Amino acid sequence: MFNKILIANRGEIAVRIIRACRELGIKTVAVYSTADKTALHAQIADEAVCIGGAKSLESYLNTNAIISACIGTGAQAIHPGYGFLSENHDFVRLCKKCGIKWIGPSPEAMEAMGDKANAKQTVTKAGVPVVPGSEGVVKSFDEAREIAAQIGYPVMVKASAGGGGRGIRFVEREEDLEAALDSAKQDALSFFGNGDVYVEKFIGNPKHIEIQLLADEHGNVIHLGERDCSTQRRNQKLIEESPSPVIDEELRGKIGMAAVRVAQSCGYANAGTIEFLLGDDGNFYFMEMNARIQVEHPVTEMVTDIDLIKAQIRIAAGEKLPWAQEDIKMSGHVIECRVNAEDPANGFRPAPGNIKHLHFPGGFGVRIDSAMYQGYTIPPYYDSMIAKVIVRGNDRAEAIRKMRVALAEFLLDGDGVCTNIDFQLSILDDECFLSGKYDIGFLTRRMQKEG
Ligand code: ADP
Ligand code: ADP
Ligand code: MG
Repeated sequence: MFNKILIANRGEIAVRIIRACRELGIKTVAVYSTADKTALHAQIADEAVCIGGAKSLESYLNTNAIISACIGTGAQAIHPGYGFLSENHDFVRLCKKCGIKWIGPSPEAMEAMGDKANAKQTVTKAGVPVVPGSEGVVKSFDEAREIAAQIGYPVMVKASAGGGGRGIRFVEREEDLEAALDSAKQDALSFFGNGDVYVEKFIGNPKHIEIQLLADEHGNVIHLGERDCSTQRRNQKLIEESPSPVIDEELRGKIGMAAVRVAQSCGYANAGTIEFLLGDDGNFYFMEMNARIQVEHPVTEMVTDIDLIKAQIRIAAGEKLPWAQEDIKMSGHVIECRVNAEDPANGFRPAPGNIKHLHFPGGFGVRIDSAMYQGYTIPPYYDSMIAKVIVRGNDRAEAIRKMRVALAEFLLDGDGVCTNIDFQLSILDDECFLSGKYDIGFLTRRMQKEG
Protein backbone atom coordinates (compact mmCIF):
# COMPACT_ATOMS: atom_id res chain seq x y z
CA MET A 1 0.00 0.00 0.00
CA PHE A 2 1.08 3.60 -0.57
CA ASN A 3 2.56 5.67 2.28
CA LYS A 4 1.65 9.04 0.81
CA ILE A 5 -0.79 10.26 -1.86
CA LEU A 6 -1.07 13.65 -3.55
CA ILE A 7 -4.58 14.87 -4.32
CA ALA A 8 -4.60 16.93 -7.53
CA ASN A 9 -7.93 18.62 -6.91
CA ARG A 10 -9.82 20.98 -4.59
CA GLY A 11 -13.22 21.37 -2.92
CA GLU A 12 -15.43 18.59 -1.66
CA ILE A 13 -13.80 15.82 -3.72
CA ALA A 14 -10.32 16.65 -2.35
CA VAL A 15 -11.72 16.52 1.20
CA ARG A 16 -13.50 13.23 0.40
CA ILE A 17 -10.23 11.67 -0.84
CA ILE A 18 -8.18 12.96 2.12
CA ARG A 19 -10.68 11.34 4.50
CA ALA A 20 -10.42 7.99 2.72
CA CYS A 21 -6.59 8.13 2.83
CA ARG A 22 -6.71 8.88 6.56
CA GLU A 23 -8.86 5.83 7.17
CA LEU A 24 -6.35 3.72 5.26
CA GLY A 25 -3.43 5.17 7.26
CA ILE A 26 -2.00 6.95 4.20
CA LYS A 27 -0.41 10.41 4.50
CA THR A 28 -1.85 13.11 2.23
CA VAL A 29 -0.47 16.02 0.23
CA ALA A 30 -2.92 18.75 -0.82
CA VAL A 31 -2.15 21.19 -3.61
CA TYR A 32 -3.80 24.59 -3.68
CA SER A 33 -3.96 27.80 -5.70
CA THR A 34 -3.33 31.26 -4.25
CA ALA A 35 -7.15 31.65 -4.13
CA ASP A 36 -7.43 28.50 -1.99
CA LYS A 37 -5.01 29.35 0.84
CA THR A 38 -7.80 29.02 3.40
CA ALA A 39 -9.60 26.14 1.68
CA LEU A 40 -10.51 23.15 3.83
CA HIS A 41 -8.57 20.59 1.77
CA ALA A 42 -5.37 22.60 2.21
CA GLN A 43 -5.92 22.71 5.98
CA ILE A 44 -6.80 19.09 6.75
CA ALA A 45 -4.13 17.39 4.63
CA ASP A 46 -0.85 16.38 6.30
CA GLU A 47 1.05 18.66 3.91
CA ALA A 48 -0.06 21.37 1.50
CA VAL A 49 1.81 22.84 -1.45
CA CYS A 50 0.89 26.03 -3.30
CA ILE A 51 1.02 25.29 -7.03
CA GLY A 52 0.17 28.65 -8.61
CA GLY A 53 -2.35 31.37 -9.28
CA ALA A 54 -6.11 31.43 -8.93
CA LYS A 55 -6.85 30.50 -12.55
CA SER A 56 -7.08 26.73 -13.05
CA LEU A 57 -4.56 26.91 -15.90
CA GLU A 58 -1.97 28.33 -13.49
CA SER A 59 -2.64 25.84 -10.68
CA TYR A 60 -4.94 22.81 -10.84
CA LEU A 61 -4.05 22.30 -14.52
CA ASN A 62 -0.38 23.21 -14.00
CA THR A 63 1.13 19.79 -14.65
CA ASN A 64 4.76 20.77 -13.94
CA ALA A 65 3.92 22.31 -10.57
CA ILE A 66 1.87 19.26 -9.57
CA ILE A 67 4.59 16.78 -10.57
CA SER A 68 7.17 18.88 -8.67
CA ALA A 69 4.97 18.92 -5.56
CA CYS A 70 4.63 15.16 -5.81
CA ILE A 71 8.35 14.52 -6.14
CA GLY A 72 9.25 17.16 -3.55
CA THR A 73 6.98 15.65 -0.88
CA GLY A 74 7.76 12.04 -1.74
CA ALA A 75 4.15 11.16 -2.62
CA GLN A 76 3.96 7.85 -4.51
CA ALA A 77 0.60 8.27 -6.22
CA ILE A 78 -1.78 10.96 -7.53
CA HIS A 79 -5.54 10.88 -7.10
CA PRO A 80 -7.06 13.27 -9.69
CA GLY A 81 -10.68 13.41 -8.43
CA TYR A 82 -13.05 14.62 -11.22
CA GLY A 83 -12.67 17.50 -13.68
CA PHE A 84 -9.25 19.20 -14.01
CA LEU A 85 -6.60 16.63 -15.06
CA SER A 86 -8.69 13.51 -14.41
CA GLU A 87 -9.23 12.67 -18.10
CA ASN A 88 -5.89 13.89 -19.46
CA HIS A 89 -3.98 10.86 -20.77
CA ASP A 90 -0.87 12.92 -21.60
CA PHE A 91 -0.59 13.84 -17.93
CA VAL A 92 -0.97 10.19 -16.94
CA ARG A 93 1.93 9.32 -19.26
CA LEU A 94 4.00 12.09 -17.68
CA CYS A 95 3.28 10.68 -14.19
CA LYS A 96 4.34 7.23 -15.35
CA LYS A 97 7.64 8.62 -16.67
CA CYS A 98 8.28 10.20 -13.29
CA GLY A 99 7.54 6.97 -11.43
CA ILE A 100 4.26 8.24 -9.99
CA LYS A 101 1.28 5.87 -9.82
CA TRP A 102 -1.99 7.19 -11.28
CA ILE A 103 -5.11 6.32 -9.29
CA GLY A 104 -7.22 5.70 -12.37
CA PRO A 105 -7.16 3.74 -15.65
CA SER A 106 -4.22 3.34 -18.04
CA PRO A 107 -3.60 6.14 -20.57
CA GLU A 108 -4.39 3.65 -23.36
CA ALA A 109 -7.85 2.91 -21.93
CA MET A 110 -8.43 6.63 -21.41
CA GLU A 111 -7.45 7.38 -25.00
CA ALA A 112 -9.68 4.62 -26.39
CA MET A 113 -12.72 6.04 -24.60
CA GLY A 114 -11.84 9.76 -24.78
CA ASP A 115 -12.77 10.16 -28.44
CA LYS A 116 -16.53 9.58 -28.47
CA ALA A 117 -16.97 8.58 -32.13
CA ASN A 118 -14.06 6.16 -31.74
CA ALA A 119 -15.45 4.81 -28.46
CA LYS A 120 -18.77 4.03 -30.16
CA GLN A 121 -16.98 1.87 -32.73
CA THR A 122 -14.95 0.04 -30.06
CA VAL A 123 -18.09 -0.60 -28.04
CA THR A 124 -20.06 -1.83 -31.07
CA LYS A 125 -17.40 -4.50 -31.62
CA ALA A 126 -18.00 -5.61 -28.02
CA GLY A 127 -21.66 -6.19 -28.88
CA VAL A 128 -23.03 -3.23 -26.91
CA PRO A 129 -25.85 -1.22 -28.54
CA VAL A 130 -24.96 2.37 -29.45
CA VAL A 131 -27.23 5.18 -30.67
CA PRO A 132 -27.68 4.53 -34.43
CA GLY A 133 -25.66 6.95 -36.54
CA SER A 134 -22.47 7.49 -38.49
CA GLU A 135 -19.63 5.01 -38.19
CA GLY A 136 -17.10 7.32 -36.61
CA VAL A 137 -16.53 10.91 -37.67
CA VAL A 138 -18.43 12.35 -40.67
CA LYS A 139 -16.07 13.77 -43.26
CA SER A 140 -18.43 15.80 -45.45
CA PHE A 141 -21.87 17.35 -45.63
CA ASP A 142 -22.93 14.77 -48.25
CA GLU A 143 -21.94 11.91 -45.96
CA ALA A 144 -23.84 13.46 -43.06
CA ARG A 145 -26.94 14.00 -45.25
CA GLU A 146 -26.92 10.38 -46.41
CA ILE A 147 -26.63 9.04 -42.87
CA ALA A 148 -29.29 11.38 -41.50
CA ALA A 149 -31.68 10.33 -44.29
CA GLN A 150 -30.99 6.67 -43.46
CA ILE A 151 -31.58 6.91 -39.70
CA GLY A 152 -34.34 9.50 -40.01
CA TYR A 153 -34.83 12.94 -38.43
CA PRO A 154 -34.48 14.42 -35.87
CA VAL A 155 -30.74 13.81 -35.44
CA MET A 156 -27.96 15.05 -33.18
CA VAL A 157 -24.64 16.40 -34.43
CA LYS A 158 -22.04 15.86 -31.67
CA ALA A 159 -18.41 16.80 -31.11
CA SER A 160 -16.20 13.73 -30.98
CA ALA A 161 -13.95 15.29 -28.34
CA GLY A 162 -16.99 16.65 -26.50
CA GLY A 163 -17.75 17.00 -22.81
CA GLY A 164 -19.87 19.16 -20.54
CA GLY A 165 -22.70 19.31 -23.09
CA ARG A 166 -20.65 21.43 -25.55
CA GLY A 167 -20.66 21.04 -29.32
CA ILE A 168 -24.05 19.30 -29.52
CA ARG A 169 -26.72 20.34 -32.08
CA PHE A 170 -30.28 19.14 -32.45
CA VAL A 171 -31.41 18.97 -36.11
CA GLU A 172 -35.07 18.54 -36.99
CA ARG A 173 -35.01 18.86 -40.80
CA GLU A 174 -32.54 18.28 -43.62
CA GLU A 175 -32.61 22.02 -44.47
CA ASP A 176 -30.94 22.77 -41.12
CA LEU A 177 -28.27 20.07 -41.27
CA GLU A 178 -25.50 22.00 -43.03
CA ALA A 179 -25.71 24.98 -40.66
CA ALA A 180 -25.79 22.65 -37.63
CA LEU A 181 -22.72 20.77 -38.86
CA ASP A 182 -20.82 24.03 -39.32
CA SER A 183 -21.72 25.47 -35.94
CA ALA A 184 -21.06 22.21 -34.04
CA LYS A 185 -17.64 22.05 -35.73
CA GLN A 186 -16.97 25.67 -34.74
CA ASP A 187 -17.86 24.92 -31.11
CA ALA A 188 -15.82 21.73 -31.10
CA LEU A 189 -12.80 23.59 -32.47
CA SER A 190 -12.98 26.41 -29.97
CA PHE A 191 -13.74 24.26 -26.90
CA PHE A 192 -11.70 21.17 -27.60
CA GLY A 193 -9.26 22.21 -30.34
CA ASN A 194 -10.68 19.42 -32.51
CA GLY A 195 -13.43 19.99 -35.06
CA ASP A 196 -14.43 16.34 -35.58
CA VAL A 197 -18.17 15.67 -35.34
CA TYR A 198 -20.44 12.65 -35.72
CA VAL A 199 -24.14 12.21 -36.38
CA GLU A 200 -26.58 10.10 -34.41
CA LYS A 201 -30.30 9.60 -34.04
CA PHE A 202 -32.10 11.82 -31.56
CA ILE A 203 -33.63 9.61 -28.90
CA GLY A 204 -36.98 11.08 -27.76
CA ASN A 205 -37.62 11.53 -24.02
CA PRO A 206 -34.94 9.11 -22.76
CA LYS A 207 -33.61 8.62 -19.27
CA HIS A 208 -29.93 9.15 -18.47
CA ILE A 209 -28.90 5.90 -16.81
CA GLU A 210 -25.30 5.25 -15.85
CA ILE A 211 -23.61 2.16 -14.47
CA GLN A 212 -20.84 2.32 -11.87
CA LEU A 213 -17.98 -0.08 -12.53
CA LEU A 214 -15.02 -1.32 -10.55
CA ALA A 215 -12.21 -3.17 -12.31
CA ASP A 216 -8.90 -4.37 -10.92
CA GLU A 217 -5.56 -4.78 -12.66
CA HIS A 218 -6.03 -8.56 -12.80
CA GLY A 219 -8.92 -8.54 -15.28
CA ASN A 220 -11.86 -8.65 -12.85
CA VAL A 221 -14.73 -6.27 -13.64
CA ILE A 222 -17.96 -5.85 -11.65
CA HIS A 223 -20.83 -3.36 -11.80
CA LEU A 224 -22.49 -1.71 -8.81
CA GLY A 225 -25.88 -1.03 -10.34
CA GLU A 226 -27.22 2.15 -11.88
CA ARG A 227 -27.76 5.80 -11.08
CA ASP A 228 -30.67 7.67 -12.64
CA CYS A 229 -29.32 11.13 -13.55
CA SER A 230 -32.24 12.33 -15.66
CA THR A 231 -32.87 15.43 -13.53
CA GLN A 232 -30.78 17.80 -15.63
CA ARG A 233 -30.72 21.48 -16.48
CA ARG A 234 -28.73 22.31 -19.62
CA ASN A 235 -27.16 18.83 -19.62
CA GLN A 236 -25.99 19.45 -16.03
CA LYS A 237 -27.06 16.88 -13.47
CA LEU A 238 -28.96 18.25 -10.46
CA ILE A 239 -30.38 15.19 -8.69
CA GLU A 240 -29.20 11.58 -8.92
CA GLU A 241 -30.82 8.51 -7.44
CA SER A 242 -30.35 4.78 -7.14
CA PRO A 243 -32.01 2.45 -7.86
CA SER A 244 -33.72 4.04 -10.87
CA PRO A 245 -37.51 3.96 -10.38
CA VAL A 246 -37.95 2.41 -13.87
CA ILE A 247 -35.33 -0.35 -13.77
CA ASP A 248 -36.06 -3.88 -12.57
CA GLU A 249 -33.63 -6.68 -11.74
CA GLU A 250 -33.69 -8.07 -15.28
CA LEU A 251 -32.97 -4.77 -17.05
CA ARG A 252 -30.31 -3.92 -14.44
CA GLY A 253 -28.57 -7.20 -15.24
CA LYS A 254 -28.67 -6.49 -18.99
CA ILE A 255 -27.39 -2.90 -18.81
CA GLY A 256 -24.88 -3.84 -16.11
CA MET A 257 -23.38 -6.64 -18.18
CA ALA A 258 -23.25 -4.38 -21.25
CA ALA A 259 -21.26 -1.88 -19.16
CA VAL A 260 -18.91 -4.65 -17.99
CA ARG A 261 -18.29 -5.61 -21.64
CA VAL A 262 -17.40 -1.99 -22.48
CA ALA A 263 -14.74 -1.99 -19.73
CA GLN A 264 -13.39 -5.33 -20.88
CA SER A 265 -13.20 -4.12 -24.50
CA CYS A 266 -10.60 -1.49 -23.58
CA GLY A 267 -8.70 -3.25 -20.79
CA TYR A 268 -10.08 -0.88 -18.20
CA ALA A 269 -8.92 -0.82 -14.57
CA ASN A 270 -10.08 1.28 -11.59
CA ALA A 271 -13.47 2.99 -11.09
CA GLY A 272 -15.39 4.14 -14.16
CA THR A 273 -18.89 4.94 -15.35
CA ILE A 274 -20.73 4.03 -18.52
CA GLU A 275 -23.50 6.44 -19.54
CA PHE A 276 -26.52 5.14 -21.44
CA LEU A 277 -29.70 6.62 -22.85
CA LEU A 278 -32.71 4.47 -21.96
CA GLY A 279 -35.73 4.87 -24.25
CA ASP A 280 -39.30 4.49 -23.00
CA ASP A 281 -39.44 1.26 -25.02
CA GLY A 282 -36.80 -0.30 -22.76
CA ASN A 283 -34.05 -0.08 -25.39
CA PHE A 284 -30.77 1.33 -24.16
CA TYR A 285 -27.82 2.83 -25.99
CA PHE A 286 -24.20 3.45 -24.98
CA MET A 287 -23.49 7.19 -24.90
CA GLU A 288 -20.02 7.59 -23.38
CA MET A 289 -17.60 6.42 -20.73
CA ASN A 290 -16.30 8.60 -17.89
CA ALA A 291 -12.87 7.21 -17.03
CA ARG A 292 -12.73 8.67 -13.51
CA ILE A 293 -14.64 8.95 -10.25
CA GLN A 294 -17.85 10.96 -10.65
CA VAL A 295 -19.50 13.69 -8.64
CA GLU A 296 -22.45 11.43 -7.81
CA HIS A 297 -20.39 8.42 -6.63
CA PRO A 298 -21.80 8.66 -3.03
CA VAL A 299 -25.21 7.55 -4.35
CA THR A 300 -23.73 4.16 -5.23
CA GLU A 301 -21.65 4.07 -2.03
CA MET A 302 -24.73 4.48 0.15
CA VAL A 303 -26.86 1.96 -1.74
CA THR A 304 -24.16 -0.75 -1.95
CA ASP A 305 -22.27 0.08 1.28
CA ILE A 306 -18.97 0.13 -0.65
CA ASP A 307 -16.43 2.97 -0.33
CA LEU A 308 -15.48 3.71 -3.93
CA ILE A 309 -12.53 5.97 -3.13
CA LYS A 310 -10.91 3.37 -0.90
CA ALA A 311 -11.57 0.80 -3.63
CA GLN A 312 -9.82 3.05 -6.18
CA ILE A 313 -6.75 3.34 -3.96
CA ARG A 314 -6.60 -0.40 -3.28
CA ILE A 315 -6.95 -1.18 -6.99
CA ALA A 316 -4.12 1.24 -7.86
CA ALA A 317 -1.97 -0.48 -5.22
CA GLY A 318 -2.42 -3.71 -7.18
CA GLU A 319 -4.94 -5.44 -4.93
CA LYS A 320 -7.58 -7.77 -6.32
CA LEU A 321 -11.28 -6.82 -6.03
CA PRO A 322 -12.56 -8.41 -2.82
CA TRP A 323 -16.07 -8.76 -4.34
CA ALA A 324 -17.56 -10.96 -7.05
CA GLN A 325 -20.63 -9.74 -8.95
CA GLU A 326 -22.98 -11.78 -6.73
CA ASP A 327 -21.61 -10.06 -3.60
CA ILE A 328 -22.98 -6.70 -4.75
CA LYS A 329 -26.34 -5.99 -3.12
CA MET A 330 -28.37 -2.79 -3.40
CA SER A 331 -30.34 -1.94 -0.32
CA GLY A 332 -32.81 0.88 0.26
CA HIS A 333 -33.06 4.01 -1.87
CA VAL A 334 -30.53 6.84 -2.15
CA ILE A 335 -30.97 10.38 -3.50
CA GLU A 336 -28.34 13.09 -3.95
CA CYS A 337 -29.03 16.80 -4.45
CA ARG A 338 -26.25 19.07 -5.70
CA VAL A 339 -26.16 22.38 -3.85
CA ASN A 340 -24.73 25.12 -6.08
CA ALA A 341 -23.78 28.70 -5.25
CA GLU A 342 -25.99 30.22 -7.92
CA ASP A 343 -29.04 32.43 -8.20
CA PRO A 344 -32.07 30.71 -9.77
CA ALA A 345 -33.89 34.08 -9.89
CA ASN A 346 -31.15 35.50 -12.13
CA GLY A 347 -30.68 32.83 -14.77
CA PHE A 348 -28.71 30.64 -12.35
CA ARG A 349 -25.71 32.93 -12.53
CA PRO A 350 -22.91 31.96 -10.12
CA ALA A 351 -23.31 33.62 -6.71
CA PRO A 352 -20.18 32.98 -4.62
CA GLY A 353 -19.19 35.04 -1.57
CA ASN A 354 -18.44 34.96 2.15
CA ILE A 355 -20.34 32.52 4.39
CA LYS A 356 -21.38 34.13 7.66
CA HIS A 357 -23.63 31.44 9.08
CA LEU A 358 -23.63 27.79 8.14
CA HIS A 359 -25.60 24.88 9.50
CA PHE A 360 -25.49 21.46 7.87
CA PRO A 361 -28.41 19.05 8.25
CA GLY A 362 -27.83 15.68 9.91
CA GLY A 363 -29.60 12.68 11.32
CA PHE A 364 -30.20 9.04 10.44
CA GLY A 365 -29.23 8.35 6.82
CA VAL A 366 -28.11 11.91 5.99
CA ARG A 367 -24.64 12.56 4.52
CA ILE A 368 -23.06 15.89 3.53
CA ASP A 369 -20.01 16.03 1.27
CA SER A 370 -18.69 19.60 1.27
CA ALA A 371 -15.58 21.69 1.81
CA MET A 372 -17.45 24.64 3.33
CA TYR A 373 -17.12 25.96 6.85
CA GLN A 374 -18.45 29.03 8.67
CA GLY A 375 -16.40 32.09 7.74
CA TYR A 376 -15.17 30.54 4.47
CA THR A 377 -15.22 32.64 1.31
CA ILE A 378 -16.22 30.74 -1.82
CA PRO A 379 -13.82 31.85 -4.57
CA PRO A 380 -15.37 32.80 -7.92
CA TYR A 381 -12.83 30.92 -10.06
CA TYR A 382 -14.09 27.34 -9.89
CA ASP A 383 -17.17 25.16 -10.15
CA SER A 384 -20.23 26.51 -8.34
CA MET A 385 -21.09 23.21 -6.63
CA ILE A 386 -20.54 23.77 -2.89
CA ALA A 387 -22.15 20.73 -1.26
CA LYS A 388 -23.83 17.43 -1.95
CA VAL A 389 -26.66 16.26 0.28
CA ILE A 390 -27.11 12.51 0.13
CA VAL A 391 -29.88 10.63 1.94
CA ARG A 392 -30.73 6.96 2.24
CA GLY A 393 -34.23 5.71 3.04
CA ASN A 394 -35.76 2.26 3.09
CA ASP A 395 -37.70 3.12 -0.06
CA ARG A 396 -38.01 6.02 -2.51
CA ALA A 397 -40.86 7.76 -0.68
CA GLU A 398 -38.89 7.75 2.58
CA ALA A 399 -35.75 9.02 0.83
CA ILE A 400 -37.71 11.92 -0.73
CA ARG A 401 -39.19 12.86 2.66
CA LYS A 402 -35.78 12.67 4.28
CA MET A 403 -34.28 14.90 1.56
CA ARG A 404 -37.02 17.53 2.08
CA VAL A 405 -36.29 17.56 5.82
CA ALA A 406 -32.54 17.79 5.25
CA LEU A 407 -32.71 20.61 2.67
CA ALA A 408 -35.13 22.58 4.82
CA GLU A 409 -32.64 22.41 7.68
CA PHE A 410 -29.68 23.48 5.50
CA LEU A 411 -28.83 27.05 6.53
CA LEU A 412 -26.38 29.24 4.66
CA ASP A 413 -26.19 32.99 5.10
CA GLY A 414 -23.63 35.37 3.77
CA ASP A 415 -22.55 38.24 1.59
CA GLY A 416 -23.57 37.74 -2.02
CA VAL A 417 -24.06 33.99 -1.61
CA CYS A 418 -27.21 32.40 -3.05
CA THR A 419 -28.01 28.71 -3.38
CA ASN A 420 -30.31 26.56 -5.47
CA ILE A 421 -31.76 24.83 -2.37
CA ASP A 422 -35.31 26.20 -2.84
CA PHE A 423 -35.18 25.19 -6.50
CA GLN A 424 -34.16 21.67 -5.46
CA LEU A 425 -37.04 21.57 -2.96
CA SER A 426 -39.46 22.51 -5.74
CA ILE A 427 -38.25 19.57 -7.85
CA LEU A 428 -38.87 17.24 -4.90
CA ASP A 429 -42.53 18.36 -5.03
CA ASP A 430 -42.84 18.02 -8.81
CA GLU A 431 -45.43 15.45 -9.85
CA CYS A 432 -43.34 14.22 -12.73
CA PHE A 433 -40.32 13.68 -10.44
CA LEU A 434 -42.51 12.00 -7.82
CA SER A 435 -43.90 9.58 -10.42
CA GLY A 436 -40.33 8.38 -11.08
CA LYS A 437 -41.05 8.38 -14.84
CA TYR A 438 -39.27 11.66 -15.53
CA ASP A 439 -36.88 11.94 -18.50
CA ILE A 440 -33.90 14.21 -19.30
CA GLY A 441 -36.20 16.90 -20.75
CA PHE A 442 -38.70 17.22 -17.88
CA LEU A 443 -37.03 20.12 -16.05
CA THR A 444 -36.61 22.13 -19.25
CA ARG A 445 -40.25 21.55 -20.20
CA ARG A 446 -41.37 22.58 -16.70
CA MET A 447 -39.27 25.74 -16.76
CA GLN A 448 -40.53 26.69 -20.24
CA LYS A 449 -44.10 26.28 -19.03
CA GLU A 450 -43.38 28.54 -16.06
CA GLY A 451 -41.66 31.05 -18.40
P1 ADP B 1 -20.05 13.86 -13.52
O1 ADP B 1 -20.06 13.07 -14.79
O2 ADP B 1 -19.05 13.41 -12.53
O3 ADP B 1 -21.40 14.11 -12.98
P2 ADP B 1 -19.97 16.64 -14.22
O4 ADP B 1 -20.47 16.77 -15.61
O5 ADP B 1 -20.81 17.09 -13.11
O6 ADP B 1 -19.45 15.17 -14.02
O7 ADP B 1 -18.56 17.34 -14.13
C1 ADP B 1 -17.73 17.12 -13.05
C2 ADP B 1 -16.69 18.17 -13.03
O8 ADP B 1 -15.88 18.07 -14.18
C3 ADP B 1 -17.23 19.59 -13.01
O9 ADP B 1 -16.40 20.33 -12.16
C4 ADP B 1 -17.11 20.05 -14.44
O10 ADP B 1 -16.92 21.44 -14.49
C5 ADP B 1 -15.90 19.28 -14.92
N1 ADP B 1 -15.95 18.91 -16.33
C6 ADP B 1 -16.82 18.05 -16.94
N2 ADP B 1 -16.56 17.94 -18.26
C7 ADP B 1 -15.49 18.73 -18.50
C8 ADP B 1 -14.71 19.04 -19.66
N3 ADP B 1 -14.97 18.51 -20.87
N4 ADP B 1 -13.69 19.90 -19.53
C9 ADP B 1 -13.41 20.43 -18.34
N5 ADP B 1 -14.07 20.18 -17.21
C10 ADP B 1 -15.10 19.35 -17.27
P1 ADP C 1 -21.13 15.15 -22.84
O1 ADP C 1 -19.86 14.46 -23.22
O2 ADP C 1 -21.12 16.60 -23.16
O3 ADP C 1 -21.59 14.78 -21.45
P2 ADP C 1 -23.13 13.31 -23.85
O4 ADP C 1 -22.88 12.53 -25.09
O5 ADP C 1 -23.00 12.60 -22.54
O6 ADP C 1 -22.19 14.58 -23.88
O7 ADP C 1 -24.55 14.01 -23.96
C1 ADP C 1 -24.95 15.00 -23.03
C2 ADP C 1 -26.47 14.99 -22.87
O8 ADP C 1 -27.12 15.30 -24.13
C3 ADP C 1 -27.05 13.65 -22.45
O9 ADP C 1 -27.03 13.45 -21.03
C4 ADP C 1 -28.44 13.75 -23.01
O10 ADP C 1 -29.23 14.53 -22.12
C5 ADP C 1 -28.30 14.54 -24.31
N1 ADP C 1 -28.12 13.67 -25.52
C6 ADP C 1 -26.94 13.27 -26.02
N2 ADP C 1 -27.11 12.49 -27.12
C7 ADP C 1 -28.44 12.38 -27.32
C8 ADP C 1 -29.27 11.70 -28.30
N3 ADP C 1 -28.76 10.98 -29.30
N4 ADP C 1 -30.61 11.84 -28.18
C9 ADP C 1 -31.16 12.58 -27.18
N5 ADP C 1 -30.44 13.24 -26.25
C10 ADP C 1 -29.10 13.15 -26.30
MG1 MG D 1 -22.08 12.82 -20.59
